[in-house]
Amino acid sequence: MCRVGNAMTHRFVSSTLQHPQIIHSLPALVRKLAQWRTRRERIGLVPTMGALHAGHLALVKRARRRADRVIVSIFVNPAQFAPSEDLKTYPRTFAADVAALARIGAHLVWAPSVDTMYPQGFAMRVVPEGPATVGLEDAFRPHFFAGVATVVAKLFIQCDADVAAFGEKDYQQLKVVTQMARDLDLKTRIIGVPTVRERDGLALSSRNAYLSDSERKTAPTLHRVLVECADKIVRGQAIGGAMTEGRAALAQAGFVVDYLEARNAETLSPVVSAKGGPLRLLVAARLGKTRLIDNIAV
Ligand code: AMP
Repeated sequence: MCRVGNAMTHRFVSSTLQHPQIIHSLPALVRKLAQWRTRRERIGLVPTMGALHAGHLALVKRARRRADRVIVSIFVNPAQFAPSEDLKTYPRTFAADVAALARIGAHLVWAPSVDTMYPQGFAMRVVPEGPATVGLEDAFRPHFFAGVATVVAKLFIQCDADVAAFGEKDYQQLKVVTQMARDLDLKTRIIGVPTVRERDGLALSSRNAYLSDSERKTAPTLHRVLVECADKIVRGQAIGGAMTEGRAALAQAGFVVDYLEARNAETLSPVVSAKGGPLRLLVAARLGKTRLIDNIAV
């Protein structure tokens, strides 16, 4: 960090431009956590795969309100990618990520290597059930939630996190990690943060970078169709009919739909009427080579 001569300037510099400490090894992380714990500081964690955007930064801001110290983990987790998926091409923008985190006051970037997370001989997997087996993402990415649960459990333990922030953008994942923390008696409390969107409604996602110009113009249709379906249900149309029309509208716009479903917002179990409690509409669809997911409350 640059040195400056007067105390006022120094305070200004350190409160606005302090770079987060970057840690790659577990022993260094343990030493840092011990310092914070001696001072009885609460630790917040934001797990990410990097390529940070304003959605990730909203999680950091929220975690800062609930913790004295915020760790952002950046780890592209091989265990949650199938061999056919985009592990190799997933965007990696580490320097820009750290600069963005400096601007919003994250304290530490935890960036372990694959070998640190999964050393030779690693032989453990957390296999979630309940919200992880309801036939949404799990039906199309069967490897996904065990990969997520395993890495998130490790991150919670490594970072000794009191709270961890997750985006509603990945709604099923939010439910899975909440259930996991509860069922494994982990002390980490989960905070869900609303989805941050572009002005045209498209949910921010690191994978939006894959969209061509013309796909980018089509992509907001995903959110628009969700809103139209929610309006129809609120106005009394049968859920099944609204969903069928929604799928047709997406196909018409050029999407290949994996699913568009109305589910119970808590359990994610299928619903036939709006009477059984709050609803969530969830969608996954492919536009060219890019798979997009989104969801909204009804
Ligand atoms: P990822 O780096 O894609 O694994 O996402 C890391 C975290 O950021 C997850 O908890 C996501 O749900 C969250 N996230 C991703 N996109 C958004 C968004 N547009 N708004 C809010 N949270 C998001």
